Amino acid sequence: MDSIHLGMENHKCSQCDYQSINKRLLETHVNTEHLGIKNYKCTHCAYVANLKGDLTKHSNRVHLNVKNFNCSYCDYQGAKRGAVRRHIKSVHLHIKDFECSQCDYKATKKRFLDSHIRRLHK
Ligand SMILES: [Zn+2]
Ligand SMILES: [Zn+2]
Ligand SMILES: [Zn+2]
Ligand SMILES: [Zn+2]
Repeated sequence: MDSIHLGMENHKCSQCDYQSINKRLLETHVNTEHLGIKNYKCTHCAYVANLKGDLTKHSNRVHLNVKNFNCSYCDYQGAKRGAVRRHIKSVHLHIKDFECSQCDYKATKKRFLDSHIRRLHK
């Protein structure tokens, strides 16, 4: 039985005889053999990442049990939920927090913070 009858597509390397039914394996082959891109292998399991950051993320999440909070808009990760929320607000929603340097007070507008400081921290 060849691959056509199994309904599987063969992905052929354009630069050598290598072929694979798994597109990801072909990509890995091209990357390592022809492009010289190093893969980052997890030391704990079979996971392979193309980017060092991805491996770190994987390792933290799966093996070190480090909980990171992810931004739902981009790759940003924060160790604290509050940090991610602040990131989303300022980067994606363009809302700036103005924090009082003398207490926990936060304001969305600078003039609110100013009046707070004037009132409470004279
Ligand atoms: Zn090849
Ligand atoms: Zn792993
Ligand atoms: Zn983000
Ligand atoms: Zn204050």
